[in-house]
Amino acid sequence: MARNEIYRNVLKTAYSRWHRSLHNGISYTDIDKIAQCPSCGKALFIADTIFNPNDTYKTKAFYTKKVYLEISQALKLPYFEIYYTTVGRADDGDLERLSVRLIYPKTGDLRHLSLANWQHYLEHKVIEHAPICQSKKYLLKRINENDDRNKTILNKEKYVKVLSNRS
Ligand SMILES: [Zn+2]
Repeated sequence: MARNEIYRNVLKTAYSRWHRSLHNGISYTDIDKIAQCPSCGKALFIADTIFNPNDTYKTKAFYTKKVYLEISQALKLPYFEIYYTTVGRADDGDLERLSVRLIYPKTGDLRHLSLANWQHYLEHKVIEHAPICQSKKYLLKRINENDDRNKTILNKEKYVKVLSNRS
C-alpha cells in the first residue's frame, strides 16, 4: 500500500487509512485483480490495474511488482498489467480502452485491445479451465440464467459445449 495516495477514488478503507498512518517498518499491498472461475472459485490469473490517463503506460516500481511475481510464480498463474483509460481521462470516468502487458510467465509486448478483445480473453480463461472445474453444472446454470447481463456473453456456444461434455 503506497504511503501517499495519487488518485481520489482508490478504495480508502478504515484499515488502509490506519495502516498508512503507521511507521516504515511494515508494509502491505493490494492485488488489484484475481480472475477466478465464477463457479468453483479457482484463480485463473492475477493483474495489476494501472490508470493510464496520458498514454505513458508507466509500469510499476520493482518493489510493487515483486509480490505479484512471487504469487504468480508460486501458483503458476499468468500475471498481467492492465492499463486502462477512461472517458474524459478522469479517474472516476467510464472505461474507454485497455492495453495489456503480460509480465509472467514471460514479459510480452504491450497490446492495445478493444474491450471486446479483452472480454474474449476473460471468457477464454474460464472456458480453458472448465473441463477440470469441480462445479461444471453450476457454471452451466449460471451462464444460462435469465439475466440481461448474460446477453453480453461472446462465446456462449463454447461454454455450453465444454460444460455439456460429461467426460
Ligand atoms: Zn471452476
